[in-house]
Amino acid sequence: MGFDRLGLSEPTMVAVREAGYTEPTPIQAQAIPQVLMGRDVLGIAQTGTGKTASFTLPMIDILAEGRARARMPRSLILEPTRELAAQVAENFEKYGKEHKLTMALLIGGVNFADQEKLLDRGVDVLIATPGRLLDHFERGKLLLTGIDILVIDEADRMLDMGFIPDVEKICERITKKHQTLFFSATMPPPIERLTKQFLDDPKFIEVARTSMAAATIEQQLVIVGPRDKRKALRKLIKDEPVKNGIIFCNRKVDVKEVYNSLARHGFNVGQLHGDMEQSERLEVLRQFKANEVQLLCASDVAARGLDIADVSHVFNFDVPSHAEDYVHRIGRTGRAGRKGKAFTIATSGKTDTKFIDAIEKLIESKIPRAGKIDLEPPKPKVAADDMPKKPFVGMGPHMPAFLERPVKIARSRQDEA
Ligand code: AMP
Repeated sequence: MGFDRLGLSEPTMVAVREAGYTEPTPIQAQAIPQVLMGRDVLGIAQTGTGKTASFTLPMIDILAEGRARARMPRSLILEPTRELAAQVAENFEKYGKEHKLTMALLIGGVNFADQEKLLDRGVDVLIATPGRLLDHFERGKLLLTGIDILVIDEADRMLDMGFIPDVEKICERITKKHQTLFFSATMPPPIERLTKQFLDDPKFIEVARTSMAAATIEQQLVIVGPRDKRKALRKLIKDEPVKNGIIFCNRKVDVKEVYNSLARHGFNVGQLHGDMEQSERLEVLRQFKANEVQLLCASDVAARGLDIADVSHVFNFDVPSHAEDYVHRIGRTGRAGRKGKAFTIATSGKTDTKFIDAIEKLIESKIPRAGKIDLEPPKPKVAADDMPKKPFVGMGPHMPAFLERPVKIARSRQDEA
């Protein structure tokens, strides 16, 4: 079915054509007509399926009629992270260029003076993270009585991040009858409960998982010893035609360490994790998207749902402990029909084996094993006999045994750096 059969207005179709889309994705084909009819939607879909356009495009047409009043936004979009919120805002700008909709963004870590001015004047679209929104609401800066459309996006990630009580409070405070569009990649019980409570006879739409759909992603599992993970990563990056790549680690500390290590080895690399200032995060994303930075070390939460088109490689420095995260991670590459490669570095230990089993069960296929990769040979150890006879001024000819140890540790650290 072509885009022109979905009921979108001509000005919106101009923006769609300019974006270069010829066919709607399955979620767009199913959701857009329903949203235009004013119906609640429950979409089981994750990023990469085109779900953002499935709600922004019809919202633009609905909001084209009518005007915003001071401090009473006409629609509200809740996102779990600042990056996703910023990305949805970019979508509104891209698809709404033929319209004159006003928009404000309430996300952590940015200066609010400008956003508050916009809110005071009245906005058609308010995009926010739940905590930040409640904060403004409770300080009386904002009224939720004018909301006609509420979007709850990435609900299962909101659950992971502990935002569901805030989302519930927000839903309870929107007393006016409104349309709700609810999206989640999975449907754990607390999310299901939420949908029962706040959705009114929703149209249920489920689209295939990215990993199932994306036959364009070539996956490989590389098994190495626990001390060889960084070497293996460097080797893969050097051997592969990496245009740009995201390197995922399970913990923030590992993101920082792997980032430092790659930077020391001369790679063009940036990092993205929750301990960074918002401005730093947005800047590194800008650099990565502009190809000023080739590699990005990231944590799952920071990188979740980021829409970076055309990433050639994904490297899992750690096997993700939640199988779902594997799907999200590798879904950063192989987008929109392009080819991508996803390497997962694992050890043969029990924990990694358990995680890999869970992933393979979820994706219902085996991740192909890569052959043994040739790693740089270890630096030769300095034998005690090769030690200088008089290492330090004032020290006798025989070096005490304990002094050998710092030398060895320094070598292995350097090697691993
Ligand atoms: P999303 O799932 O919303 O994160 O979108 C994933 C990517 O698909 C984004 O880069 C969109 O620009 C792109 N996209 C969305 N709709 C279409 C479409 N109908 N045809 C081609 N690409 C699309």
